[in-house]
Amino acid sequence: MFENLSDRLSGVFDKLTKQGALSEEDVSLALREVRVALLEADVSLPIARDFVKAIQAKATGQAVTKSVTPGQQVVKIVHDEMVHFLAGDNANAGELKVDNPPAPILMVGLQGSGKTTTTAKLAKRLTEKNGKKVLMASLDTQRPAAMEQLAVLGTQIGVDTLPIVKGENAVKIAKRAKQQALLGGYDVFMLDTAGRLSIDDELMAEVEAVRDVASPRETLLVVDGLTGQDAVHTAENFDARIGISGVVLTRMDGDGRGGAALSMRAVTGRPIKYVGLGEKMDALEEFHPERVAGRILG
Ligand code: GDP
Repeated sequence: MFENLSDRLSGVFDKLTKQGALSEEDVSLALREVRVALLEADVSLPIARDFVKAIQAKATGQAVTKSVTPGQQVVKIVHDEMVHFLAGDNANAGELKVDNPPAPILMVGLQGSGKTTTTAKLAKRLTEKNGKKVLMASLDTQRPAAMEQLAVLGTQIGVDTLPIVKGENAVKIAKRAKQQALLGGYDVFMLDTAGRLSIDDELMAEVEAVRDVASPRETLLVVDGLTGQDAVHTAENFDARIGISGVVLTRMDGDGRGGAALSMRAVTGRPIKYVGLGEKMDALEEFHPERVAGRILG
């Protein structure tokens, strides 16, 4: 989708003869390509507009240096602006607040977003990279299979899970996880909350109750990166009701649309902390704006 944006841009510009500076017409031509590509990638219209406007301001009148083609020069401007949009002001997006043990991390999101998988991936990462002792607990009382899934993943990656006790509600499990984390000398405990197919009041009320019991240091929303603007709406909703500290975009390995990444920061003001790049337990990467911009531009 986005894949050949840099080729498209270079193509437009390299047709032009070299001039002293990028003219308004040159820039407008390229920006038409950018706008189309953004909309194809399911970036929302206001964000696409802001983005294009920012580039217009930067590119117009800029002297074309001898060493690069005008096309290359515009690609660089677009790339830099994309990094800016993706990163916001926060240079340390990937860092989690996990001091003061046991630090609770609340994992929220819709069913099927990759929440349970991401919980385990992150637990593995915290264990192996940060040397943390991690406890995971599933709060999905509606779906015993989800609880089992987390336990299986825990065994696979060598991270403890809270023993499953039938009949407990989510708040009770959260309390038990906290207690177990204290008693067991854990650095971090992760609460994998139940998902629903869509945002509903019942889901939000349950997550709120868990949040109030756990006082999480981090509340991470897991969203499917392939869902474009829907992912951004989901983030807005969760943030308004629960308050999130960051976002994990999953399925960024698919050749889907990069739109969610580009709009997320600008719309929600919340940082993307990690991206999911596959089903395997190692397929989680810190969010690097440079890398994502590079991938988008191709
Ligand atoms: P949950 O309902 O939100 O807990 O979703 P799951 O964690 O069960 O994930 C649903 C499916 O998505 C599983 O088959 C996962 O292996 C898969 N999945 C999760 N994250 C990623 C990712 O980043 N890339 C890909 N390709 N698949 C993923």
